[in-house]
Order: sequence, then C-alpha cells, then structure tokens
Amino acid sequence: MDEFDYVIVGAGSAGSVLAARLSEDKVTKVLLLEAGPKGRHPFLHIPIGYGKVFYDQRYNWKYQTNPEPHLNDRSIYWPRGKVLGGSSSINAMVYVRGHKQDYEEWNAVAPGWGWADVEPMFRRMENWLGQPQEERGRTGPLGITDISGQVHPVTRAYIKAASEAGIPFNPDYNSGDMEGACFFQITTKNGIRSSTANAYLKPVAKRSNLFILTSAFVTRVLFDGKTATGVSYVRGGKTLIAKAKREVVLCGGAINTPKLLQLSGIGAAPLLHDMGIPVVIDQPHVGQNLIDHMGLELIYGATVPTLNQLLRPLWGKAWVGLQFLLRRKGPLTMSLNQGGGFIRFDKGKGAPDIQLYFMPMSYSRAPKGKRPLMSPDPFPAYRIGFNPCKPESRGYVDIQSPDPFQPPRMQGNYLEAEKDRQIMIAGTRLIRRIAKMPALATLTDKEIFPGNTMETDDDIIAVARDISWTVFHQCGTCRMGRDEKTSVVDKTLKVHGISNLRIADASIFPSIPSGNTNAPAIMVGEMAANIIRNEAL
Ligand SMILES: Cc1cc2nc3c(=O)[nH]c(=O)nc-3n(C[C@H](O)[C@H](O)[C@H](O)COP(=O)(O)OP(=O)(O)OC[C@H]3O[C@@H](n4cnc5c(N)ncnc54)[C@H](O)[C@@H]3O)c2cc1C
Repeated sequence: MDEFDYVIVGAGSAGSVLAARLSEDKVTKVLLLEAGPKGRHPFLHIPIGYGKVFYDQRYNWKYQTNPEPHLNDRSIYWPRGKVLGGSSSINAMVYVRGHKQDYEEWNAVAPGWGWADVEPMFRRMENWLGQPQEERGRTGPLGITDISGQVHPVTRAYIKAASEAGIPFNPDYNSGDMEGACFFQITTKNGIRSSTANAYLKPVAKRSNLFILTSAFVTRVLFDGKTATGVSYVRGGKTLIAKAKREVVLCGGAINTPKLLQLSGIGAAPLLHDMGIPVVIDQPHVGQNLIDHMGLELIYGATVPTLNQLLRPLWGKAWVGLQFLLRRKGPLTMSLNQGGGFIRFDKGKGAPDIQLYFMPMSYSRAPKGKRPLMSPDPFPAYRIGFNPCKPESRGYVDIQSPDPFQPPRMQGNYLEAEKDRQIMIAGTRLIRRIAKMPALATLTDKEIFPGNTMETDDDIIAVARDISWTVFHQCGTCRMGRDEKTSVVDKTLKVHGISNLRIADASIFPSIPSGNTNAPAIMVGEMAANIIRNEAL
C-alpha cells in the first residue's frame, strides 16, 4: 500500500504523538516514516543510558554548527535523536511545561495557542506519578516521575543553599508557578525512559490503520502545483513514494524540517537557485529565527562523596546496577540533573531569566566525541549550570547541497545579543553566591572549573565564549505566525501558500519556552492532532 490519509515525516517527540492520536480513528490510514531505527538498545530505555547514546551515530544525527562567530569560532555539537521517539529517546528527560507568558507570546501571533489553550493539552499528555493535584494530568500516556524522594544528599544541600540565597523551594514548578529552586521532574515510568516511542507508539503499534516504517529517510515533499501530494523516501537502498490523500505533516524537528522544505523547493529563492532546486514558493523565513538555550557550568570540588564515588568504581557500578535490576530505583533511573530552578532577576511577574541545573557529580565533556559523554571524575565534585531562558540571539539552518544525505549548514549565533551576555554574567554570579551559602559551603572545597580565571564581567564573557555549550533546545526555524511575511506556518500549522502540508514539531515555536523543550514539542503534537481531527469532521 502506498496511499494513506496522512503521511507523517519523523517519529520524534511531536510526530509519534500525532501518529498515535490520528490513528485513534480506525478508518484513518496513517503512515509514520522515521529515518532512524526502532531503537531496542537498553541504553535508549535506561535513563542513565543518556551518556552512552549522546554520540552514538546509530541513534543520533550528530550535527555540528558552522564556526560560531561569538564563541571564538568554536563549532558546537548538536545531537538530535534519529530513532523512534526522536530526541525524546536520547534527551536528559527533564520535564518542564514552560511559563504561562511563553504561550501568551505565541497567542499574540497565533491566536488559539495561549496558556488557556495549551494547558489542557499538557494535562492530557501527563501520567503524573507524584502527589495528586488538580493542575496535573494523571491518565495521559507520558510517565512523569517525581524524583524528590531519591535524590543525592548533595542535591538536598543545593536546595537548602538556594533557599539561604533567597530562592525559595518550589515543590512543583509545573503547576502554574515556575519560580524557585526545585527537584526536576523527569519523563520516566517505573524507572524506564518515557520517550514518545514508549509512551505513545508502543501501546498502539498493532493498530491495523497505523503503518510505522523505520529506516525510511524522506528526501522530498512531492507537489501538484502548490498542493502537497506525498513524499519520496529511501529505504533499503530503494527510492519509494508514499501518497497522502489528505495531508503530509512534517515532524522532522528544528533542523531537519526546514532542511526538507528547502530540498522540496520551499525556502529563500536565492538559496534554492544556488542549489539548482526549482522554487515551489519563495519563503525566506524557512530555516531562520533559530533559537536555542546556551548554558554555562561551574564545577565545585566537594569534601564529601558525590555520585562520582558511586558511578566510577566497579563495585559502585555493580551496586547501582543491582538497585536498577531489583527495584527499578537508584541513580540509573534518574537524569543526571537532579535539581535546578527558575529565577527572575527583577521581582515581578513574567517568565524567568535563567534556568539552573544541579548535578551531584561531575564529568568532563569529551572533545569531538572521542570518549563517552559521561565518565565521572575520580574526585568528589558537583556541577551547577544555568542558561538564559529567553535568549535574543538568533541563528539559522540552510541546506548547503541539493543532496538530501548531506547535513545542512547551521549556526546558533550564541552570545550575539548584548542581553544574553548580561544574563551570562548575572547567572554566573548567582551560582557562585549559592555555592557560598552555608548549606553548600560546608561541603565544598573550591570552585575547580573555571576557577579564578573568571572574576570580572569581561572574564566571565571571555570564558563563556570558550566553554559554553548548547542545552539542546533548538527551535523556531519554521515559526508559526499570522502571515507569510513574518512566518512559515499559520495558527493551524499549515504552510503558508501551500495546500495539504503542515508542520508539527519544535520548528514551529514562535519563541522559545522558558524551560526545556520536549514537553512543548509533545504538546504541539497533541495540538496538531486536535486541529487536524476537528478540521476533518
Ligand atoms: C541530548 C539532548 C538532551 C535534551 N534534554 C532535554 C531535556 O532534558 N528535557 C527536555 O524537555 N528537552 C530536552 N531536549 C530537547 C528535546 O528533546 C527536543 O526539543 C524535542 O525532542 C524536539 O522534538 P521534535 O518533535 O521537534 O523533534 P525530534 O524529537 O528530534 O524528532 C524528529 C524526528 O524526525 C526524524 N526525521 C528527521 N528528518 C527525517 C527525514 N528526512 N526522514 C525521516 N525521518 C526524519 C528524526 O530522526 C527524529 O526521529 C534534549 C535534546 C537533546 C538532543
């Protein structure tokens, strides 16, 4: 069979949700095409496997940016999931809905996407496994675990130190008020990663109207004039065609969706001419407006054992392995980021300025993927990191070849905006203040990284240019908005000027949410399903 009602490209955070929801209607034939494999490897399912698949090309697109002009020309590594579940299968699992104001920003350019509209979608997604409360969904597919009962004592000391620094503890940053220090909630269930593959696809994979094809690399959207009619894809060395009677929906993520549009003739006309690609529609916003969270981390030597002393030695590995196998508990079932927080520098309402991350361990990042990401340091240490929540710097994604198998050119343009630099300075100083509070100071030896090379504001920016990293939240490259002069898709996710073609993934975010981006991407999948099903009635 090569004709379906809906052809969905990409089984990631949003695409898996959309396929599962659209196929609830038994007479609707849905094809889900995924470039990556099924992903049965245990490291995709045991939460601590995060460090192992971080550089694994079997499940990861492993992108590299062009030299970043404001980061001393460093090229930044951008992992992206290439497997059922997409990036939700390889991410760090921190679950954050975002701030109400984030969605009021969306609503201003795309009415129908305000907090009142998206909040029911978050509840619908959630199988919240913490204390029952009205604001949280308990019957959705996505397992969300409250790890507060299991965290390392050093993580508790961080929460106390934050409170001593004037940042109160927030027991649930997802129930309306984000501000404060917190234990992160993570997308797991019974100690296993709740990727969208596990949460949404697995339970419905046997539906006779849902066709899931893995290792199917989509190379182009096909058109009849300005109407999308299907896609061409390569599988097992053969080029094949899948036709869509109703619609093609692109869910390839913030890098691959604009790439696929450009390859298909929807993009800036001069770029398409350079590549020898016939122009279907001249759309200069495709691939522009790339937004990302850029983080900086400080490492402190500790005077007490941290997770390094458990995860590094062989006996410790055996012990945590046993905890996992027998009770589905312990460090293997958690994100490395056990704590964090959302801070506003000027008091008042609105989205936070920075997000904090606390890890009761330390590791050195491998340069260019030479070693696994997560090799704990031999000494006791902890890490506190942060990123500006609403950066103003903007990057792009552009194809650099008409060959679909070539990666596009991409750039984050991190630290281009003055505001982002100022927040880097304020965030660094805040972390140092927290580490000096009695609850942490009593178990801290000294700041070992970056250490005393970073004292003045200029030093902080110089060091940030040298060592800051992405927090992996690329979005906005096919943003949603009112018209084709300012955006790529409308509020119903339809590509402006084209029939039967929508986009549903993190590329449509008009602005970046204040927290991590997996929950918002899943929410986009839920919203897309609602919109499409209502229109089809
Ligand atoms: C290492 C890492 C850590 C992260 N940590 C967190 C975190 O802790 N919390 C959080 O909230 N967010 C985190 N994120 C971000 C979050 O996971 C993403 O924002 C989110 O998953 C994006 O969803 P998406 O649906 O837009 O794209 P994706 O989930 O990336 O899905 C896109 C899918 O489309 C497929 N695809 C692409 N092109 C094609 C093609 N041509 N043909 C067929 N298939 C194609 C891809 O293989 C992929 O499966 C992290 C991301 C990474 C990479």
